[in-house]
Amino acid sequence: MIKQGTVVSMTYRLTNAAGEELDRADKNEPFSYLHGAGQIVPGLEKALVGALVGTQKKVVVSPEEGYGEVEEHLRTSAKRNQFPPDAELTVGMRFAADDGNGQPIIFTVTELVGEDVSLDGNHPLAGETLHFDVEVVEVREATAEELQHGHAHGPGGHHHD
Ligand code: ZN
Repeated sequence: MIKQGTVVSMTYRLTNAAGEELDRADKNEPFSYLHGAGQIVPGLEKALVGALVGTQKKVVVSPEEGYGEVEEHLRTSAKRNQFPPDAELTVGMRFAADDGNGQPIIFTVTELVGEDVSLDGNHPLAGETLHFDVEVVEVREATAEELQHGHAHGPGGHHHD
């Protein structure tokens, strides 16, 4: 049964409110996570508590319990000359920048017009209502090492070099 400190392997299909597929993990390559470690969005993590192997569930997650609302102040712009001269900027490119308080924000380049670079620091799925179609394929106790690291190891989980 899924609870704090278990490692869960599952298949899922993630669609948005329009029914478009955003992401999926299939039976041949299920996704694994450490439950209770914040590895998945809070709304899905909550909905899976108590689920058993074989459980199939449809879970609808609001933006607040998903990747957050779109924050306009994270949409900003810069000039090309603010980037290193050898940086090849392309639309869709992502990079980390400091938010001024020591927290990294991932920005995506959304538009390039002349010297102007439009940037968006929102998560690509911010503002989306997430529709998960989940099947639990395995639940096991986490190892001491996994608990210490805060993530699942092994197939479908985190791999260390
Ligand atoms: Zn690890």
